[in-house]
Amino acid sequence: MLSNRQLFLLNTAQTSTTPRLIEIERAEGLYLYGPNGKKYMDLVSGFAVSNIGHRHPKVLEAIKAQTEKYLHITVYGEFIQAPQVLLATELVSFLPKNLNNVYFVNSGTEATEGAMKIAKKFTGRTNFIAAKKAYHGSTQGALSLMGDEKFKIPFAPLLPNIHYVDYNDVNQLSTVDQNTAAIVLESVQGEAGIRVPDIKYMQAVRKRCDETGTLLILDEIQTGLGRTGKLFAFEHYGIVPDILLTAKALGGGMPLGAFIASQEIMAVVKENPILGHITTFGGHPVSCAAALASLRVITTDGLMDTVEEKHQLFLQHLQHPEIKEVRGIGLMMAIELDSFERVERASKYCATNGVMIDWFLHHETALRLAPPLTITNEEIIAACNIIKAGINN
Ligand code: PLP
Repeated sequence: MLSNRQLFLLNTAQTSTTPRLIEIERAEGLYLYGPNGKKYMDLVSGFAVSNIGHRHPKVLEAIKAQTEKYLHITVYGEFIQAPQVLLATELVSFLPKNLNNVYFVNSGTEATEGAMKIAKKFTGRTNFIAAKKAYHGSTQGALSLMGDEKFKIPFAPLLPNIHYVDYNDVNQLSTVDQNTAAIVLESVQGEAGIRVPDIKYMQAVRKRCDETGTLLILDEIQTGLGRTGKLFAFEHYGIVPDILLTAKALGGGMPLGAFIASQEIMAVVKENPILGHITTFGGHPVSCAAALASLRVITTDGLMDTVEEKHQLFLQHLQHPEIKEVRGIGLMMAIELDSFERVERASKYCATNGVMIDWFLHHETALRLAPPLTITNEEIIAACNIIKAGINN
């Protein structure tokens, strides 16, 4: 009989020639467990998903309760499904007034796609501005927003009329003009290796959008749901987007995404043509029930208030001669080393020694740190000691 590892290589599609091939049997809180009982601290949170840890009891309870009622019943947007309604209502209660209408989808890239469509139709414009080294998803519209040709050339033709600017460069904002439907930015660039923009930059972006009638789409797929110490990272900048993208941690471990805008902007999808943007599974009731439970955990008991203190603790315990810099905000950090070889060696050592850590799509010389927000101070110190040993190695 073939092992799971052999079957994985044989029957499931691979996304690279070097998958990590670590088998996980179960997960709980901060920890992942292999088949032989091997325990790993998950410092990546399944790529910024498990913000309240794996299998949070409140999330499991909500999932079980919803499975007693119904799973999928019909396509999104037709029937009144309480889990969607309750989640949308609670989510918008935490958002500025203009972000009051939620369109649920299944994933981050779908949120990007939906937002691009409503931006075009609402403004009647076709051009987009995006940032170099951005990542907004892998479907064709979202991929078109990526500034890196290497990822796009094999899949050409993609969408036309997209211009790329350097992230955080105020001088390039003059490219946003009366023909621009939207500028799409991550509130903190994730896959670029965690790049936190200047507050002044984000405010200049908002101002330029207001001057030109351009919509500001902020991608908070990675930064959202408390990861930076605020529910959404735009709150750090004193600005409000026209369209907000969320996914990843939104579902509390279940697949869920959303694009959120004003009722006025969102109205463009319901007529001319009707059903201009539809989804079968978007806003799955079980995902929405899990998301509501997760949102409540994130927004109560001061969990987000602990994020900055934990960030500081990581900084304090990540002092090492080979660490060039620890960048980031909240629990979204990059440990800058000097080479990919060192990153790879350190992350292999960490995995062998029970710490799961990773790197970035557009930046290979840094380690990625995005632990659950629920990580304790003792666990942070223990993890940092293993990471330093990995860098020594
Ligand atoms: N946007 C950002 C900033 C992301 O980090 C990601 C995924 O890593 C996406 C969009 C795409 O999300 P998904 O993988 O759910 O399609």
